[in-house]
Amino acid sequence: MNAVHPSKIVCVGRNYVAHARELGNELPPVPMLFLKPPSALIGPGEPIVLPGVSRQVEYEAEIGVIIGSRLRQVDQAGAERGIDGYVCVNDVTCRDLQKTDGQWGRAKGFDTFCPVGPAVRQGLDWRSLEVICRVNGAERQRARATEMHFSIPALVSFISGIMTLEPGDLIATGTPSGVGPLQSGDVVEVEIPGVGVLSNPVHDGTAR
Ligand code: MG
Repeated sequence: MNAVHPSKIVCVGRNYVAHARELGNELPPVPMLFLKPPSALIGPGEPIVLPGVSRQVEYEAEIGVIIGSRLRQVDQAGAERGIDGYVCVNDVTCRDLQKTDGQWGRAKGFDTFCPVGPAVRQGLDWRSLEVICRVNGAERQRARATEMHFSIPALVSFISGIMTLEPGDLIATGTPSGVGPLQSGDVVEVEIPGVGVLSNPVHDGTAR
């Protein structure tokens, strides 16, 4: 049973300085957005299935924002009021397909590529949030929300100027530096202290 049931999953690329640099990219002048399909959602403990078509599947630990009320063209104060809570997200990505395709729909859209959970936590100040990634118990990523290029209220406000955000919608706010590969047999954890720990095993899929 998943903790979230979003009508859409809006993701933000290149939102931490060090992550943009590690992949050789510049920081974008406005938030760089893409969508993951809700069919990619899985919950805690469910396997991330590696598609046979990719040789480089990577984890991306992110702070997830769950929208609490319908938001359309709101300012940052309105955006902050419209947030229901926060949840751990793993924006699983085929790094090789992301580079070769140009568009990111395939690289980030496979079934099981959006682990979310274990629960949405309300009543937290976004400025206090920190996200950590571990693979097989070894820490790979750690950053605070205050290190983002565009803040959480700025992101929600910006997105609401493009598409109406509905209650339950999920925004993945970008990953910090330290991204790296996943292999069959790994266990990947995304932790946001005070929110929870999202743990998923990694399995091989069938080639296609
Ligand atoms: Mg990401």
